[in-house]
Amino acid sequence: MADKRIKMDKRKKIALIAHDNRKVDLLHWVKENKEMLSKHILYGTGTTGSMVEKETGLSVITFNSGPLGGDQQIGARIVEGEIDFMIFYWDPLSAQPHDPDVKALLRIAVLYDIPVANNRATADFLLTSSLMNKEYERLIIDYKQRLEL
Ligand code: PGA
Repeated sequence: MADKRIKMDKRKKIALIAHDNRKVDLLHWVKENKEMLSKHILYGTGTTGSMVEKETGLSVITFNSGPLGGDQQIGARIVEGEIDFMIFYWDPLSAQPHDPDVKALLRIAVLYDIPVANNRATADFLLTSSLMNKEYERLIIDYKQRLEL
């Protein structure tokens, strides 16, 4: 196998996730960027996704709640190419029962070269990138081949 390129459409498939102490912040950001986000396909962990849907009227495809496997479901969709963008406001001040799942999700996002924002400033920079309105090719590195060189 060699490095692989995966095409992202103009219409991005964006996962929205926020830990409990960050939900208000994410909701505020989504409201501020509602028009832009409405051009893309939104996914979310259970509580975050339902909250965004209820409070903004945007439609969100929801999975289980994070602590009940939602992060893992989103990670699997990233592997399968169904989700290609992530806004994940994780809480830097509280321990989470599903910390291993959070770590696994962040690892998969790096491996599959998807844009990830973990705070407001990064989310703002990502959403205003000119690449949001274009196709883009992600690069999936064949680490195994590199190690064999
Ligand atoms: P939730 O999950 O949206 O269901 O609260 C988020 C998380 O804790 O990962």
